[in-house]
Amino acid sequence: MDKDEVLATCMKHNFWTWSAQNHAHPIAVERAEGVYFWDMDGKRYLDFNSMVMCANVGHGEPRIRQAMIEQIETLTFAGPHMATLPRARICQKLLEIVPAGLEKFLFTLGGADANENAVKLARGYTGKFKILSQYRSYHGATFGALALTGDPRRTSWEPGVMPGVVHFSGPYRYRSALHASGEVISDEQLCRDYLHHLENIIRFEGPETIAGILMESVTGTNGVLIPPDGYLAGVRALCDRYHICLILDEVMAGFGRTGKWFACQHWGVTPDIMTMAKGLTGAYAPLGAVAMKAEVAAAYNEKVYQGGLTFNGHPVSLAAAIATIQMMQDDHIVDRAAQTGQVFAQELKQLMEKHPCIGEARSIGLFGAIELVKNRSSREPLADYNASSPTIKTLVNDLESAGLYIHAHWNVLLLIPPLIIRPEELREGFALIDKALTKVDHEIVK
Ligand code: PLP
Repeated sequence: MDKDEVLATCMKHNFWTWSAQNHAHPIAVERAEGVYFWDMDGKRYLDFNSMVMCANVGHGEPRIRQAMIEQIETLTFAGPHMATLPRARICQKLLEIVPAGLEKFLFTLGGADANENAVKLARGYTGKFKILSQYRSYHGATFGALALTGDPRRTSWEPGVMPGVVHFSGPYRYRSALHASGEVISDEQLCRDYLHHLENIIRFEGPETIAGILMESVTGTNGVLIPPDGYLAGVRALCDRYHICLILDEVMAGFGRTGKWFACQHWGVTPDIMTMAKGLTGAYAPLGAVAMKAEVAAAYNEKVYQGGLTFNGHPVSLAAAIATIQMMQDDHIVDRAAQTGQVFAQELKQLMEKHPCIGEARSIGLFGAIELVKNRSSREPLADYNASSPTIKTLVNDLESAGLYIHAHWNVLLLIPPLIIRPEELREGFALIDKALTKVDHEIVK
């Protein structure tokens, strides 16, 4: 099939997710290597979104491919109730990198089902039902994970989502729900006010009804919202005080994205349950996992855990995960991401200084966001909440035409490149963004 046939057939018969069927604009992608991919016309794109924030170790890594091939040749599939060599080895590998204290792993197919299982585990362990999760969050597209999600991706499916979830606001300095716009707030105050807000919600809802607090350690698609120092530790302390399970969603923030294996390690916080997916296999195969403390798992020592999936722990996915972690260790990818993250932060700062359309630019490791505004003083966003704008659409199209693949969420441009990106490749991407933003500046300055 040539490119036109591929596009026409996919447009006719493939049902596109997160898209109106008649308005999908797929790129006919043919191959990928390192931080680039190529479409069927041979056009090259620099991948500033790691495909779907998951191709953390870049495309086409031979060591991971080889491990998958060897696994296919030895044992392509074994049922979820069987012990296999890759199942044993992935457990060992995960123990090397997860926060100490997490020691048992339940495997899933991705992030949404990891979060759903985390909820079941917390409910079974505590004997309580409610889950608190944050506004401005995303936890997956199944009905349970949607219920946890704190943005319109949930509300569009209500009232059919899982019951028992109550939302609270997390610290978002630039558009703080608890402070007047422009007010100067210290980290201590931000932390204190948001912890106070959360504790109030715990009290209003009744601690004896709350099984878990589930949140992204660093919020992803809702704009790379980095909690101030002390916030995660404060949530941990509230969970301890009220006997609530702390569940951290590291699906996007994990596997080196922030310059540590897991984002919670920046603040030395160990959750009771931690979910992961995306970067776990470097996107070479679908896999998610729920890591838990021994006492959480022990709740099911005698009673049956009602849950599981046919492809739990698929050997080929596990082989991809083992090889991904090994490759990241051998090539010091996490340290490299932390170092390249400094170049990234510097480039963001320079953009911010130059472009009045940037209200705020923030990053941690190679996890970055540019918040686009119509006016820096008023902070009026360049696209409304849950909306796009012609300017943002043109910006993303311009970048795509220039060969930069990037994702915009409402008024926020997300910058989430593969962790193997070299400084010169980063600068190549930033130069394209710089040029495209100059056009946006001209449009907004009246
Ligand atoms: N949690 C977070 C923080 C995510 O960003 C995502 C996906 O983007 C998910 C969960 C859902 O993961 P999946 O799409 O693998 O189900």
